[in-house]
Amino acid sequence: MKRILSFCLAVLMCGCLFGCAPKQQKFQYQFFDTFDTIIRVVGFAKTQEEFDGYAQYAHDRFRRLNNLFDKFEDHGLTNGIAAVNAMAGVEPIKVDPQVMELILFSMEWQQKTDGAVDITMGPLISVWQDYIARYSPENENAKLPSGQELEDAAQLCGTHLLEIDQQAGTVWLKEKGASLDVGAVAKGYATELVAQELQQMGWESFSISSGGNVRTCGQPKNGNDYWNIGIQNPASGAVLAEQSELLDVVSVNDSSVVTSGDYQRYYMVGEKRVHHIIDPVTLMPADHYCSVTVVTPHSGQADLFSTALFVMDLESGKQLAEQYDLGVLWVMSDGSIQCSNAILPMLRGDSLEQK
Ligand code: ADP
Ligand code: MG
Repeated sequence: MKRILSFCLAVLMCGCLFGCAPKQQKFQYQFFDTFDTIIRVVGFAKTQEEFDGYAQYAHDRFRRLNNLFDKFEDHGLTNGIAAVNAMAGVEPIKVDPQVMELILFSMEWQQKTDGAVDITMGPLISVWQDYIARYSPENENAKLPSGQELEDAAQLCGTHLLEIDQQAGTVWLKEKGASLDVGAVAKGYATELVAQELQQMGWESFSISSGGNVRTCGQPKNGNDYWNIGIQNPASGAVLAEQSELLDVVSVNDSSVVTSGDYQRYYMVGEKRVHHIIDPVTLMPADHYCSVTVVTPHSGQADLFSTALFVMDLESGKQLAEQYDLGVLWVMSDGSIQCSNAILPMLRGDSLEQK
């Protein structure tokens, strides 16, 4: 009997020494108090405590980055984007290193996207945001801003107004009334920073979903090879992602899936949908697409590209996708679908069948 018992014990110990990794469970945590959206952390961990440690860290970091990248409120900070805007036309201010990095990152990629995304467009974007806030989609008396209003705002936009001194760590908008708007990139950029930090802390398998921005890290530890990320059907409108109708699904690992769309914040003037992604050339909401989804590893890049591609015409967009090996799915204004080559192997394909 004793011999049988010690044999069983030995088998058990061998099992644990050779490859019987402790089982991991899936956990989820979400919060609503940053970046004007729901942020959901989903991940695999050995215990609830282990997961809670990571999730709490993520929440704290998102709070801090939200406060630094907010364009209106300074949250008591003197070194964030709001402080740069408050000091426009006055004097340079020393910014937090992560604010400097975000600005440099945005400037680099806005050059590579031919200025389709331009973080110095604060005044023009504010005009549109005020109109969007003023009118509901059902309001039949809704108006567009006047050409003059847009021209006046555009006078206060442009990279020539931005002076960056990397050595001193300072940023200055040289004209009073100029302002930075990092809305096209900040959420994805913050998501990338937090994801990288969590990986450095040793977390191997998780995803962070910030509104339309999803960043996945590692393989899901539930036996699946990939994380399956739904692409919302723009026709289903401004509803929570899990309630929306899906247009398609992409399967990815260690990658980001980010969508820009015209269906979240908008109002109507006749048949025209007035939304929050503004073409720097026409000064009007871009109107080629209902949504553009980008798949690429870095979530900040994915966020910036999704906004830039929403502004660019299809031909320039396809060239950009080719150049940077981006997975892209465009939903054209008439509802038809266009894809870059790189997205095809990841796509379940429902949207292509509808074609
Ligand atoms: P969301 O914020 O809904 O995820 P986007 O990532 O596409 O969508 O960003 C849209 C935001 O970016 C707008 O709310 C505005 O703050 C800003 N924005 C809009 N158009 C531009 C543009 N052409 N260049 C830079 N920023 C823009
Ligand atoms: Mg974006």
